[in-house]
Amino acid sequence: MENTIKITRVKASKVNDLDFDNIPLGTIFTDHMFICDYENGQWQTPRIEPLDLIPTHPAAMALHYGQAIFEGMKSTLDIHGNPGLICPEKNGERLNFSARRVGMPDFPVALFVEGLKQFVGLEKNWIPPQEGSALYLRPFMYADEPFIGMRAANHYKFIIIASPSGPFFTKRISLHAETKFIRAAQGGTGEAKVAGNYAAAIQPTELAKAKGYDQILWLDAVEHKYIQEVGTMNVFFKINGELITPKLDGCILNGISRMCSIELLRARGYKVIERLISIDEIIQASENNTLEEAFGTGTAVGVAMIQDIGYKDKTIHVSDNNPVGQMIRGTVHGIRSGRLEDEFGWMVTIKNELV
Ligand SMILES: *Cc1c(COP(=O)(O)O)cnc(C)c1O
Repeated sequence: MENTIKITRVKASKVNDLDFDNIPLGTIFTDHMFICDYENGQWQTPRIEPLDLIPTHPAAMALHYGQAIFEGMKSTLDIHGNPGLICPEKNGERLNFSARRVGMPDFPVALFVEGLKQFVGLEKNWIPPQEGSALYLRPFMYADEPFIGMRAANHYKFIIIASPSGPFFTKRISLHAETKFIRAAQGGTGEAKVAGNYAAAIQPTELAKAKGYDQILWLDAVEHKYIQEVGTMNVFFKINGELITPKLDGCILNGISRMCSIELLRARGYKVIERLISIDEIIQASENNTLEEAFGTGTAVGVAMIQDIGYKDKTIHVSDNNPVGQMIRGTVHGIRSGRLEDEFGWMVTIKNELV
């Protein structure tokens, strides 16, 4: 590796303080972080060091103009006790796609993957062993140059932190099809993992939750008719034996779980169609009894099974069970754990990265 990672370990790990049977969501962080600064037009020496606060200038540009992007991935242990990652280079490529959209520099994909391997290798004891549990990894990049004014920054930080997560809540979800607020429009930033997209989704999501829904079903910005995504997941509908997922039209986040699900479904003989799909088509399929199931896919939750959708004053019943969604969930768990063959070559296994 051209950039050797400089490693400073903590004196004593805090992992023994964690109750692995009771992991609170998103509040526990591992001992270390991976960190790299961009200055003078290049990435400096990458480091892994004890997790700590980062001094921030009040004029740091990310705080004002929102040059901030992120990724989300999970590492799990296989039956041999080795950590694994699913297609980490895809996350590296997507990070750079997001970076370019908001005028940030690329982070080398090889260093992204190598940094993850060394970091996860070092934090291996933090990976919860139970099926459905994982070490959630959060790579992110932001502009930390102090400057008041509208231009691309000259100084950035790329960081990876990690948080252990217990088995995700697997209740069937109820969606609110949103006809007032939007998530993404053609030419906007919806297909990039830009922090501001999530800021824009917070108020609509809170309003939907106050009405008793779990998540928003996002519709297109022009006609409020074509389905985009579910919260921060991609969405699949099974109608009359075929799986339909919205095509990547510039408004859809190109999910790695979406990509893996499509590959798996096609390998199992399902027909998967990427195209526009309208809420009217879902209503009609529900009325004709051809709507067989629907689910969301994303790294954080895995597969979320959809029970029903509230649209205007109607409730669209979707289904009471999800055989296809369960097949995807079970197969991904099996491949991650090494109980099933990695037939698609998704896994990167981390063995003794640090000796
Ligand atoms: C991250 C994300 C997804 C899911 O992507 P995965 O790579 O599958 O985790 C889907 N939609 C949005 C809006 C996201 O931010």
